[in-house]
Amino acid sequence: MSLSQVAVAAPTYIIGTTAPDVDITTYFEVFEDPERRYDTDDLLNHDFNERFEQLQTDATNVGFSASDWWLRFTIDTNDTSDTAPKKAAVLLDYPLLNVVDAWVFSGSELKSEWRTGNLRPFSSRPIRHRNFLFPISASIEQPQTVYLRIRSSGPVNIGLSLIEQQALLSEIQLEYMAFGAYFGGFLLLALAVLLLYLVDRQTAFLSYLMYILTYGCYMMAFNGFGSQYLWPETPDFGQVLRTVLLSLSIIFLLQFSRSLLGIRRVSPVLHHCVTILQFVIGAILLAVPFFGYDPFVKPLAVLLLLALPLVISMGVVAQSNGELAARYYLLAWSVFLAGVLIYLLKVFGLMPHNFVTHYGFQIGSLFEFIFLSAALGVRVKELRHQSQIDELTGLANRRSFDMALTQEFSFNTRPNDALSLLVIDIDHFKNFNDAHGHAAGDSVLRKLAKVFESQIRRPAVAYRYGGEEFTVLLPRTDGEAALILAERLREAVVADMSRDNITVSIGLVSRNEGDFASTVDFFIAGDQALYQAKHAGRNQVAQYNADLDSDTVIAR
Ligand code: GH3
Ligand code: MG
Ligand code: MG
Repeated sequence: MSLSQVAVAAPTYIIGTTAPDVDITTYFEVFEDPERRYDTDDLLNHDFNERFEQLQTDATNVGFSASDWWLRFTIDTNDTSDTAPKKAAVLLDYPLLNVVDAWVFSGSELKSEWRTGNLRPFSSRPIRHRNFLFPISASIEQPQTVYLRIRSSGPVNIGLSLIEQQALLSEIQLEYMAFGAYFGGFLLLALAVLLLYLVDRQTAFLSYLMYILTYGCYMMAFNGFGSQYLWPETPDFGQVLRTVLLSLSIIFLLQFSRSLLGIRRVSPVLHHCVTILQFVIGAILLAVPFFGYDPFVKPLAVLLLLALPLVISMGVVAQSNGELAARYYLLAWSVFLAGVLIYLLKVFGLMPHNFVTHYGFQIGSLFEFIFLSAALGVRVKELRHQSQIDELTGLANRRSFDMALTQEFSFNTRPNDALSLLVIDIDHFKNFNDAHGHAAGDSVLRKLAKVFESQIRRPAVAYRYGGEEFTVLLPRTDGEAALILAERLREAVVADMSRDNITVSIGLVSRNEGDFASTVDFFIAGDQALYQAKHAGRNQVAQYNADLDSDTVIAR
C-alpha cells in the first residue's frame, strides 16, 4: 500500500499556492503512542497510519508526557510550468525537546531520515538552527509525506509551522538579529552594572551583576543558543548546566532583592527564609557532581518555584514599609509575570500564536530588567541621601557639610566671591541635659533645627555638625550681611526656645575678612569666633577679624 492511500484524512499542503498565513493545523495529523512502540519500519504500515487524527491547534502543549508524539503531513506542488522541486521547511519552535526524529517519504520510498533533539549533538540537525528545522521539497507529481516523532522528559511543547524557502532566510535573519539585540542588551547592562560596582562598591550592584549574567546565560540555553554555540557536542552537560544556571540566577536574584529592599531591617523573618532557600539550593548544586543530576530534578524545580512567592513577599513588605525602590521592584515582577502568563496562555492554546505571545517570556524579562535597574537607581539615590542626613534633626550632616565647604571653597576662587560661615553652639547644654534628661535634650536639638530651617533660605544651608553644634554655610554672603543674618538667627532662638530657656552662641567668619589657606583654617577661625562669643558671656554673635590678629568683634 502506498502512503497516498493511507494519508487521506488531512489535505495536502500545496507549496507555492497556499496563502502564507493559512492555518497549518489543517494539514497536520497527530498520534500519541504511550507505549513508544513504533519506529522506522512501521511508517508504511496501514495499522500505524490509521491512528492519526487531525491536529487541533498549532501550539500544543501536552505538559510532561512519557509518550511518543507523532506528527504527519503531506506536501505537494501543482506548478506544471516549473519542474524544479519546490522547497520548504517544517519548524518546531521549542528548542528543549529531548528527541526529535524526522522521516520524509516520497510514495513508499524513504528519502531522508534525521534523528536529532536537544539531547543529541548539534551536528545531528539537518539545518543548523537553534530550533528544530527540517527541509522538505516536492516536485510535480512527487508528493512527500513527513513523519515527526517527539519524545521529551521536559514539557512536550509542540509549536509547528511550515515556512516556504523564500520566506525562510529573511525570517531567520530577523529572528537572530532580534536575539542579538536582546542578548546585546544583557551584555551592555552587565557592563554598566560592573562599572557602577567598581565605582561605588555597593554589594547590591554585585549581586545584580551576577543575576544579569546567570539569567542571561540561562536565557541563551532556554532559547537553544546553548546547544548551538556553547555546548554543541555535549548536550547532556548542557542539560545539567541549564538547570545550574537557572538555580544560580535565582540565588543571586534573592540576594539582590534582599539588599535592594533592605529586607534584613524590614522583615527579619523573610530575611531568614531567603537565607534558608539560598542555602538549600546551593547545597543541591554542590551535591550534583557527586550524586548526578537526576535525583534532584524535581526537588530543585519545587525550590525554584518557591522563590517566586518569596520575591513577591519581599516586594510587598518593602512597599508597605515605604521603600521607594519597592514600587519599581514590584512593577518589574508584574511585567515579568504578565509576560510569562501570556506565553503560557499561548502554550496551552488559549491565546493565538504570534510574536508577542511566543516571545512573552523574553519581552517580560526585558522590561523586568529595565524596572529592576530603575529600582536600583532609586535605592542608590536613597542611600546617598540617607548618608548625608542627620537622623535626629533631619538637617544635613557633618559629612555633607565637609563636602559643601570644600566645594564652595574650591569653586569660589574669584576674590569678590563672598562666603561666610556660622559656627553655632548651645549654651550650657550640659546643664539642660542634667536637669531635664537626655530625651528632653534631643527634643531641644530637633526644635532648634526647625528654628534654623525656618530662618534660612537657599543657598544658605544649616548642618548639624555634631552633638549640640551646628553650622550654617552662607555662599555669596559677605561679613556684613552674614552678621545681620546671624543676629536674626540668635534672636529667633531666644524667641522660639524661651520655654526651654535655650540660647546659642554664634561664631562668624567671612572669607573676605582674612586670608584662609584651606577649609580647615577657615573653620578654625569660625570656631575661634565662637569661643570669643562664649567667653564674652554667651547668647551672642562674635565675628572673626584678622586685623586684630584672631581677635574678634563682639556684636550684641
Ligand atoms: P557651653 O555653653 O560652654 O557650650 O556649655 P555646654 O554644656 O553646652 O558645653 P559642653 O561641650 O561641655 O557640653 C555639651 C553637651 O551637649 C554634652 C552633652 O550632654 C550634650 N550633648 C551633645 N550631643 C547631644 C545629643 O545628641 N543629645 C543630647 N540630649 N545632648 C547632647
Ligand atoms: Mg559644645
Ligand atoms: Mg554647648
